[in-house]
Amino acid sequence: MYMKLIGPFKQIIPMTGLSLKGSISDDELNIVEDGGILVDGEHIKSVGKYADLLVKAKEVSAELVELKGNHVCLPGLIDSHTHICYSGSRANDYAMRNAGKTYLEIAKAGGGIWDTVTQTRKASKEELVKGIIKRAKRHLLNGVTTIEVKSGYGLSVDEEIKMLRAIKEANTVLPTDLIPTCLAAHMLPRDYPGTAEEYLAEISTVLFPILKEKGLTNRIDAFIEEGAFTKKMITPYFEKAKEMGFDITVHADQFSTGGSEVAVGFNAISADHLEASTSKEIELLAKSNVIATALPGASIGLGCTFTPARQLLEAGGALAIASDHNPGSAPMGDLLTQASILGTFQKLTNTEVWAGITFRAAAALNLSDRGQLKGGFLADFILFHTDNNQEILYNQGAFKPCMVWKKGELVYDKHKS
Ligand SMILES: [Zn+2]
Repeated sequence: MYMKLIGPFKQIIPMTGLSLKGSISDDELNIVEDGGILVDGEHIKSVGKYADLLVKAKEVSAELVELKGNHVCLPGLIDSHTHICYSGSRANDYAMRNAGKTYLEIAKAGGGIWDTVTQTRKASKEELVKGIIKRAKRHLLNGVTTIEVKSGYGLSVDEEIKMLRAIKEANTVLPTDLIPTCLAAHMLPRDYPGTAEEYLAEISTVLFPILKEKGLTNRIDAFIEEGAFTKKMITPYFEKAKEMGFDITVHADQFSTGGSEVAVGFNAISADHLEASTSKEIELLAKSNVIATALPGASIGLGCTFTPARQLLEAGGALAIASDHNPGSAPMGDLLTQASILGTFQKLTNTEVWAGITFRAAAALNLSDRGQLKGGFLADFILFHTDNNQEILYNQGAFKPCMVWKKGELVYDKHKS
């Protein structure tokens, strides 16, 4: 394979040797001073002292990518929950909400999720691909090298397929990895002629086999909430998904509780939102293998409370942090900024914040090849122009990476753009 040595870095933060669950103190953060990364094709061969790796690199005639100045290197960030496949804008909803209008008043004025469904259905697959690429490129400049992307604005067999095809196509164009998820159970479409149960039965019997056959996704998500779907409605839907070998993930406890219990019951990979979780739900999640995912972008977008992240960690839970980037409740889509802010409000250590957007986020997507810098893992890493890693979160997202490497290739270089 084609090898290269990249470095020297003032600090490498490999995010190795840390537990998947529970609190982490900053004393536990492993820092490799004056380090380098030996890359073998798309993967990391080894991480260590630059001087040692230089000897190795010469033995195997690796290319030397020598960096000038001080850099801190971290794993490429992972955004494990987004809705960046959509059309239209909900700027009017945002203005109305901030002006004190209620959810119902906004819906009456033509806003809400249904507005995005209407716009997304009108858009061609090609238009959706363009929108995903535009948004994913912005995420890349913020250091995000893996993005989960949900459907859920199609809400019919054909329209959900169109969205998932758009995500698949955008994935072939971008250096970023897009992980698709089917969220046909986002809401009962207003134009559906039957009941919620009938809609879910149609999706699971007609759409699920197509998803498998066409390789469109291996993940099924549902919005369990008052006004969306109840535990009772979702149970046969998830049973069918499990039976067919899909991974399950849940929009849980955003405004009312109940979703996290379903997530634990179905041994979901993750339960996301959890702003409304009480001690009971936190205990339940902490005892399970479900990754609890906080979505500070939705709290900031709606002006609501944050997920009780500190309490989740203290109880022994695994905490990922994602942007929930969507046109309605979380239009910002800047993971590093949102994770920094969640850290401030929930009193998370820097290491807990980094864990939430690296290896714990990888676990929230059931991916075991990224989120840490070590031999055998994907060579996805980001560089910041500083000699002290603490500067990054201290700047609350305003300090952006200067270089992004994806699968061993330099895909963004601030100095050259
Ligand atoms: Zn969401």
